[in-house]
Amino acid sequence: MTLAGDFRRGCELVRELTIVAEAPRGGKTSEPAQTDGLRIRLSDRKHFGAALLFATGSTTHIEQLREIASKKGMRLEADGLHKCRTLIAGDEADIYHALGLPFIDPELREGRNEVELALKGKLPKLVTDQDLRGNLHCHTDASDGTETLETMAKATRQRGFEYFGVADHSKSAHYAGGLSLEEIAQQHREADRLNKRFGKDFRILKGIESDILADGSLDYPDEALKQFDFVVASIHGRFKLDRKAQTQRLLRAISHPCTTIIGHMTGRQLQRRPGYEIDVEKVLRACAKHDVVVEINAHPWRLDLDWRWHQAALEFGCMLSINPDAHSIPELDHMHWGVQMARKGGVPADRILNAMTLPEITRYLRQKRRSLARAA
Ligand SMILES: [Zn+2]
Ligand SMILES: [Zn+2]
Repeated sequence: MTLAGDFRRGCELVRELTIVAEAPRGGKTSEPAQTDGLRIRLSDRKHFGAALLFATGSTTHIEQLREIASKKGMRLEADGLHKCRTLIAGDEADIYHALGLPFIDPELREGRNEVELALKGKLPKLVTDQDLRGNLHCHTDASDGTETLETMAKATRQRGFEYFGVADHSKSAHYAGGLSLEEIAQQHREADRLNKRFGKDFRILKGIESDILADGSLDYPDEALKQFDFVVASIHGRFKLDRKAQTQRLLRAISHPCTTIIGHMTGRQLQRRPGYEIDVEKVLRACAKHDVVVEINAHPWRLDLDWRWHQAALEFGCMLSINPDAHSIPELDHMHWGVQMARKGGVPADRILNAMTLPEITRYLRQKRRSLARAA
C-alpha cells in the first residue's frame, strides 16, 4: 500500500488522501473506490507502478508524459506504458526510463518545468531530512515556548543534530513574552554554561527572533543585536500596511547589517489568513544582495516562504533555511514539512543554511559578524 496523490507530491494542503493498494492475487485492478476525502485504487503487481504514477499526478505532469510517449509511438495509460498491444513498462521508474527520462521525484511533478529539466538532464538533487545538521529559530519558556533552553537543546541533540539555534521573541512582542536586555544576558549565560557541558560536537547558537517594527527597524539597539550569533527578523504585527509600505519595511530590515534570516516572509497561515501584501520578488532580490537568508518556516500552519517562490530565490542567489519555529519538543519535528516544501521548490542541500555542519555554520556566522564590524 502506498500513499499517492497530493500527499506523495508533498503538497502543503491535502484535500483528498489517495492510496494505491495491491489487489490480492487474481483480484482485478479497479476503478478508484471513493469516500469523503479518501480515494483507494487497487492494482495488481504488474501494473502497480503505473497505477501509482497516475494516482500521484499531477494531471499536467501526466499529460506531459503522455505527450512524450505518443511522440515515441507509445501509449501511456493508467495500466502502464504500451507499444501497440505490448506492455513495455508497468513499474514507475521503468516508465520514466522507457520515455528517456530520469526518475522524477514526486514532489516536482507539478507540470512546471520538471519534464523539460529532466529531458536536459538538469533535475536538481533535492534536499532530504538527513541533510539537515541543526535547527535555527526555536523558542523556549523564556518567551512563549513550553520548555527550558536546556530541554530543547537536549531534545535537538537527541535527534542527531549538531546545533540548536534559540530565537526567542524580542521585547516588542509583549504578547509572546519578548525578552528584555536583562533576560537576554541571562539566556546567554545559560547557553555558555550548557555549551561547556556539551563539548565540541554540539552547540547552542544564540539567536533572537527580532520583531521588524512598523518602520522596518529592528527591536533592540545595534549594540545588543551584535551579541547574537544570528538574528531572525520577522513581522508579527501591522499586517495591514499597503504593499509599498510593507515592502519598504522588509527592505529596511534586510539592509540592517545584523539581520541573518528573514522569518516567515509573507506571514500567511494556511487556511487561516493570507499573507500581508508585499513585492516578494523585490524582497528576494534584496535578500540576495545583502546576503540575508530566506526562511522556509516549517510550521505546518505557515510553510512560508511558499515553495512556488523557491526557484526564484535560488535564481537570484539566495540561501534558504528550513526552520521549525518550534515552541515545544514535538514541534522540533516540523522540520520534515519544511524539507517537503524545499523539495517541491526544487532546492538542493547546498543552498540550505542549516544543512551546513557545525564548523561550517560557525564560520559562516562569524564571517557575517566580521563584515558587521567592518560596516560599523
Ligand atoms: Zn515569528
Ligand atoms: Zn518564531
